[in-house]
Amino acid sequence: METHSLYVHIPFCESICRYCDFCKVYYDQKQSDLYLQRLQEELSQIENHNLKTIYIGGGTPSALNDEQLEKLMGILKPYSLKVQEYCVEMNPESMDYYKLKILKKGGVNRLSIGVQTFQNNLLKEIDRHHNATQVKNLIRYAKQIGFDNISIDLMYGLPKQTKEDIEKDIDVLQVLDIQHVSYYSLILEEGTILKYQNYQSLDDEQEYQWNLLIDEKLQELGFDKYEISNYAKKGYESKHNLVYWRFENYYGIGLGSCGKNNHQIIEHSRSLTKYLNGDFKTTTIEQSKEEMMFDQVMMSLRLVEGLNLEVFKERYQEDALEIYQDAIDKNKKEGRLVIEDNFLKATKEGLYVLNDILVDFMK
Ligand code: SF4
Repeated sequence: METHSLYVHIPFCESICRYCDFCKVYYDQKQSDLYLQRLQEELSQIENHNLKTIYIGGGTPSALNDEQLEKLMGILKPYSLKVQEYCVEMNPESMDYYKLKILKKGGVNRLSIGVQTFQNNLLKEIDRHHNATQVKNLIRYAKQIGFDNISIDLMYGLPKQTKEDIEKDIDVLQVLDIQHVSYYSLILEEGTILKYQNYQSLDDEQEYQWNLLIDEKLQELGFDKYEISNYAKKGYESKHNLVYWRFENYYGIGLGSCGKNNHQIIEHSRSLTKYLNGDFKTTTIEQSKEEMMFDQVMMSLRLVEGLNLEVFKERYQEDALEIYQDAIDKNKKEGRLVIEDNFLKATKEGLYVLNDILVDFMK
């Protein structure tokens, strides 16, 4: 399988959020200058310039200053000439009109904005330093500059968040001309401040009810659910993220990033000191055929389209229906899985209990 996608990690953040377990460090100008230099060195190891998608994530890429963003665009220029989708993540408080212009000039054609919620009181609860007005202004500027593929991240299960807060957040979407929404449930990871504070996240029933509400409301606004947490207007599904969910290959560049090259998962260390010293050493995890097949199923069943059985057969020379016959039969009977047009897919109900389904595939 060839590789046509690139993930670039910018680990710098201006502040650290209470729920975050991503690979991130506080922004420091000197360190980030040196980081970009190292990124360029690491990138030069990639010979394939024929990329279809590039995704710059973080951390907070928009924490970089104007000069640094321009430098980053310059570093990636040779790789971005033929891309179909070129996306950058940003936080509203660190992005402005001029930075948007730099991205536009650099060929970026998709923006992913970390909004989380439009309720200012809840943003404070999770240590986010923007407000709803900043988000609306940012989207207005982006439109003026010509961006027509804008995604926002929202969250449910935040401290003190009510059902009404979710409804109010979705109401705001009615007036924003955006094309994509990622709506994540807050997951309490070890090592995060919220976990340390013993915050209790949603129970299963509440999570199910809120998920239902979000699905229904977003559908009414014309956002089709295409992945367990992702919704898009027609034709605006994230091409880059589809590469992950279809378990295709991708390069990962930068601190803590991860790449996939057929049976190899390539992981970077999270040590900034080492990275800044030019030590790009990675750990390569060799996957067995069984591990790859399971990961393929696990990722693809997140998609509403499901697992392409023909592609599965081509990749692994195995019939998924035979290998996972017991799990498939059981979940078909329970109305959680169906087979349609040579795709194995979770039903609407199945998507809400995907973890339970996957347990059956592990047996
Ligand atoms: S959630 Fe985003 S902005 Fe907040 S600390 Fe994590 S990477 Fe940084």
